[in-house]
Amino acid sequence: MSIFFNPDLASLEAYTPGEQPQGMKYIKLNTNESPYPPSPEVAAALSNEEVQNLRLYPDPDCRQLKEALASMKATDIRNIFISNGSDDILNFAFLAFAGGGGRKVFFPDITYGFYQVFADLHGISAEIIPLQEDFSINIEDYCSLPFSGGLICIANPNAPTGIPLTTEDIEKILLANPDKVVLIDEAYVDFGAESALPLIRNYDNLLVVQTFSKSRSMAGARLGFAAASSPLIDDLERIRFSTNPYNINRLTMAAGIAAIKSGEYFMDNCAEIQKTRSMCVSALESMGFEVVPSKANFIFVCSKLIDGEFLYNELKRRGILIRHFNKERIRNYNRITIGTPEEMDILLNEIRKISEEVSL
Ligand SMILES: *Cc1c(COP(=O)(O)O)cnc(C)c1O
Repeated sequence: MSIFFNPDLASLEAYTPGEQPQGMKYIKLNTNESPYPPSPEVAAALSNEEVQNLRLYPDPDCRQLKEALASMKATDIRNIFISNGSDDILNFAFLAFAGGGGRKVFFPDITYGFYQVFADLHGISAEIIPLQEDFSINIEDYCSLPFSGGLICIANPNAPTGIPLTTEDIEKILLANPDKVVLIDEAYVDFGAESALPLIRNYDNLLVVQTFSKSRSMAGARLGFAAASSPLIDDLERIRFSTNPYNINRLTMAAGIAAIKSGEYFMDNCAEIQKTRSMCVSALESMGFEVVPSKANFIFVCSKLIDGEFLYNELKRRGILIRHFNKERIRNYNRITIGTPEEMDILLNEIRKISEEVSL
């Protein structure tokens, strides 16, 4: 840290992204990317003409992309917000809807690590609500919070557990907290959970955030969107236009519009990943692993027979990356992204070998 760094941020602990190795080739099951490429329409959209247009700024209102999203989600463009990845939207939401007069942010103890980082970055006080023993959310915990505004942040399905909430449960939280914005982070909703998006018509405090990174195979393009009542969208736009109005570049915009048009390709991929997921769950359970019931493109697993960190290191040595979190309650667990059936076969084989070795 230089002597010039803002002392208010001296203790800021930045988010640690999953490893993105740039030389060695791993089977990469550590950051929940899609194992499948973007749709052929996306590749076609990145035309030479689009490249020539890079000399021009992109449309700061993202009009075309907003229209495509609004029509896909059967809503109005005034209810759609677009930004450079959903992390960007979370950042803006923390700025807009928490802090300022002690408005807190509320989220579970085991969830997406970025929530705590954004709270720290913006000096927002965070109230951490422990998950239950089985890692599920106790809805009642969110229905008796103090009536003093702020932001509730819930990933649905949750990460890194994969456990989903029902829309009825989300509705209970919305009804109990009319003074707070309820942000539902649906990064993984397309892999079998139920989206809360249709509820934006009935609840002006609901903010649903989704991303093109996982189910649409576009993590490298950086594209996320949110849906909410128009006053919430206007607040987010105010922050975005005070930060970087051109934060969706032309290539990403064109790719996003094309991806929305490839509905069938997208649904086939999501279905394939869910199929591979159930195959992996059965295989791991038969090897004595406990698998948390997941509706995401990853599974959260542990075994009484193999130490979690040991398994992570041993697989890495063998060219397979999974994600281990050095965090209380989940030290014996690993999060494994669902890859192609071939990748998962290799993983399962290696886990089988490691299991045999430790039991000798
Ligand atoms: C991956 C992920 C994000 C971030 O997605 P980007 O759109 O790539 O920024 C947000 N929330 C959760 C829970 C995630 O797992």
